[in-house]
Amino acid sequence: MREGSLEAPTRHPLDWENPEFYDEAKLDAEMRRVFDICHGCRRCFNLCDSFPRLFDLVDESKSGELDTVASADFKPVVDACTLCDMCFLTKCPYVPPHEFNLDFPHLILRYRAVEAKKHGVGAVDHALTETDRNGKWATLISGAVNWATRRGSPLRGLEEKVAGIDRNAALPEYASQSLEAKTKANPPQRDASAPAKARKVVLYATCYGDYNDTSIGEAALAVLAKNGVETKVLHPHCCGMPKLEQGLIGEVADAARKVAAAFAPYIDEGYDIVAPVPSCALMLKFEWPLILPNDASVKRLAAATFDLSEYIVDIARKEGLAGGMSPIEGGVAFHMSCHSRAQNFGQKGTVLLNLIPQADVAVVERCSGHGGAWGYKKGNFETAMKVGKPAMRQLNTAGKKHVVSECPLAGIHLEQGIEALAGDAPKPERVGHPIVLMARAYGVSSPSK
Ligand code: SF4
Ligand code: SF4
Repeated sequence: MREGSLEAPTRHPLDWENPEFYDEAKLDAEMRRVFDICHGCRRCFNLCDSFPRLFDLVDESKSGELDTVASADFKPVVDACTLCDMCFLTKCPYVPPHEFNLDFPHLILRYRAVEAKKHGVGAVDHALTETDRNGKWATLISGAVNWATRRGSPLRGLEEKVAGIDRNAALPEYASQSLEAKTKANPPQRDASAPAKARKVVLYATCYGDYNDTSIGEAALAVLAKNGVETKVLHPHCCGMPKLEQGLIGEVADAARKVAAAFAPYIDEGYDIVAPVPSCALMLKFEWPLILPNDASVKRLAAATFDLSEYIVDIARKEGLAGGMSPIEGGVAFHMSCHSRAQNFGQKGTVLLNLIPQADVAVVERCSGHGGAWGYKKGNFETAMKVGKPAMRQLNTAGKKHVVSECPLAGIHLEQGIEALAGDAPKPERVGHPIVLMARAYGVSSPSK
């Protein structure tokens, strides 16, 4: 719930196809208008590193106001933003429909889009946004890739130099077979003993769920099958979140058109689309319709898409979940990710976990500091650890046996911070998503990663 306003925030479409969007003088005027309001308000001082950088910049200027700050000095403020959306959704009283019409994350996105148009995105940074292409070849040689990218690998220094990936950042491992390939070989089967539901689901595998940690998708399919839901798995293309972070809005629009076209026939047949990664669900449900507001397929897909936790809770509320779950011992420290919160649907991950008998859930609702690929980068990683420290501390002191975030990349980052805080003390086991614990409670989890 946002502070200080009774009205629900609305968001205007991104005007990225209008040449004025890229007019630098107009962008600068808008940055100054917004930064001035923020400097007077300061509510977001503790959300991330962008706002402290902005406030220090203005406070330490000659006049103590924006008029003596050079526009070139705005860049570090922009660079610290992970596009988590928390300022827009939880703090800012000036978002539309307020007359100030303030949307800080979308202003940052516009700045990055202008930069990308003017200078392009570096070849290595662009290659890192090609998560589908990277995932396809990395799963083929996952052993070598995982060896080369693990912490302490002799190649991490080179990777830092060439790709700008901080040598100390924990990176996601790759699976030896994608979720799509696994489920093609072994298609998901609805539990014949479960009462058939009218529901049919296409699980949008997502890059992370397809190429990195397939246990999330496998658990989702197993829980849905247990509950009589017919399922299919599809990964037509990345949702484009890594490209959005780089300001490559046109490429995100291409991804949106592709994915919407691939899902359209399934939506025609009455399938719901379920995304297990909150950032990807956020893209399908909210960002794409703002990027392509006149595209009917994108609009239809947005209306048919559910976040995974949201979908399981919807089944529980409307039809009830199948019985047969055993208690999960030891409790769960649950991090509610920014992009789950940004979907504005309440604490669905917490509700899901509390459907497991004796789950004993401790909820932490603070930013992990990670921000997708942003948090791996040299120059950002230390900030990402600093911003995430309060969440890491709370998750560690909760003293639970399991730790989980709905955002898998945040989970890896938090795990690294918890390891550092815990030292030699026992550490909680990280799982990829709350659904993994529900699948264990049903006794239907897959041991494979
Ligand atoms: S979107 Fe997130 S990281 Fe960016 S300014 Fe807002 S709170 Fe900070
Ligand atoms: S984004 Fe809104 S709430 Fe946050 S500092 Fe700026 S004006 Fe204040």
